[in-house]
Amino acid sequence: MADVMADVEADVLVAGGGLAGLAAAALLALHGTRVVVAERRPTTSLHPKARLVNVRSMEIYRALGVERDVLEAGEPNAGFVVADTLAGEHATWVAPPPEETSAADDVSPCRPYSCDQQRIEPILLRRAAELGADLRLATAVEGLVVGGDGVSARLCGKGGAATVRARYAIAADGARSALRRQLGIGMHGEPVAGTAVSALFRADLGRALRGRHVDAILCRSAEAFLFARGSPADRTWQLGTHLRPGWDGAALPGHLRDVVRAATGLPDLRPAIESVQTWTTGAWVADRFRHGRLFLIGDAAHVMPPYGGFGGNTGVADAHNLAWKLAAACRGAEPAGLLDTYQSERLPIAELTVAQALLRSRKTPGRPAPPDQVDATALVLGFRYPPAAGAPVEDPAAPSGEPGTRAPHVGLTDGRSLLDLFDPTAHTLVADGEVSRADVLPGHRARWDAVYAGRRVLVRPDGVIASVSSPGSG
Ligand SMILES: Cc1cc2nc3c(=O)[nH]c(=O)nc-3n(C[C@H](O)[C@H](O)[C@H](O)COP(=O)(O)OP(=O)(O)OC[C@H]3O[C@@H](n4cnc5c(N)ncnc54)[C@H](O)[C@@H]3O)c2cc1C
Repeated sequence: MADVMADVEADVLVAGGGLAGLAAAALLALHGTRVVVAERRPTTSLHPKARLVNVRSMEIYRALGVERDVLEAGEPNAGFVVADTLAGEHATWVAPPPEETSAADDVSPCRPYSCDQQRIEPILLRRAAELGADLRLATAVEGLVVGGDGVSARLCGKGGAATVRARYAIAADGARSALRRQLGIGMHGEPVAGTAVSALFRADLGRALRGRHVDAILCRSAEAFLFARGSPADRTWQLGTHLRPGWDGAALPGHLRDVVRAATGLPDLRPAIESVQTWTTGAWVADRFRHGRLFLIGDAAHVMPPYGGFGGNTGVADAHNLAWKLAAACRGAEPAGLLDTYQSERLPIAELTVAQALLRSRKTPGRPAPPDQVDATALVLGFRYPPAAGAPVEDPAAPSGEPGTRAPHVGLTDGRSLLDLFDPTAHTLVADGEVSRADVLPGHRARWDAVYAGRRVLVRPDGVIASVSSPGSG
């Protein structure tokens, strides 16, 4: 770890090394941008929060060169079940939502995956360090000043304080973002009632599972969720439930053990509770994502109920959208207004995603989706910058190929995806002829014909179509 006492010059200061801040750091470092990240905790997250890694995040991790590490750290997503207890017969298996199983081979080279946030953060941290990012744990960002030609702040750690000067700053300091409040940026949305409790525990649940694999289960008898955590080789479990009156202080672990026993259907179980977190959520979006040279990403920019598993993934997508723009600005290669597009592109997507998470939080598990529920794969792959009124997302299986949409995957006969040919640090021109129809898997040729055939498609470093032209049209 770098010496916290020495003053620091950087292109970008990232305040907060959670999922979004570490993704931003790694992506900025991939561009060769000098980035310093300060995280006030001494380690990456210890308590598992996000587990569902959606297919878009997997594509981002692939571009970053860490898809394999994530695959090794987690396990395939196995969907969700509703039952009375884990030990019960699970007659009410709920088929995994299509977005969690089928967003694979056809529309993306990646699959949605299950990997705990506390396992992904070290992967991103390692990758950021490998790419040259300056990472400082146990270091808080204080006294941030956003000026006309740069930002400055104090980095405060055990060894003392240092001044950091950077051209831009990213506030990735989480849902309670002090930076957002300091800058007077309000949030719009609505509160979500209740306090949730999450307890991580170890227990041998073999008697309840009887050889079955369960990734996530709603145990009705206990009003609680159980989530498999870790990986098959290092299995822990997480209990998610709501805080009930009188459950405080020293009595809380005892109550949680009772709920684990009720949820598993194993009355004699002695679960070893390793950590407990209580948290409240809401459905909020920041009124602005930019304050001069400072940009909000992740939970600092939007807070949503965990239903649908969108929270962390949306933060990673924010980082992906912002990193190449900041890198261009730091190289002096920023076309006029490029940095403004971070807010104009991501804020409407955040509003849409928060609304969808809220809708899912109010749905009865096992019941059909309400008509206004947007398919999660369409939400994360079919986005449009900016969203079109009335049709905010498109079907990723039938992409329009319009500027502002994700450049679609087509499988190539050599086993790669067209996405693998995109340069994550520069614009890529896909010109029909350089890759030809004959290089495309037969089953993907209709999509090739619809989007790429006979055109020159310019793809941004974040895999979004920048422009489309026909040869000869300049
Ligand atoms: C139970 C639960 C389940 C969830 N499941 C999912 C899921 O399946 N999929 C999904 O995508 N999301 C999920 N989420 C949401 C996800 O965990 C969050 O959206 C994600 O952690 C946000 O990442 P972040 O980096 O924006 O913020 P955080 O992870 O909160 O990180 C912010 C960091 O900033 C640091 N910090 C704050 N102030 C300062 C400062 N002044 N200086 C230095 N550092 C500072 C904090 O210490 C913290 O580490 C879940 C959340 C919960 C609670």
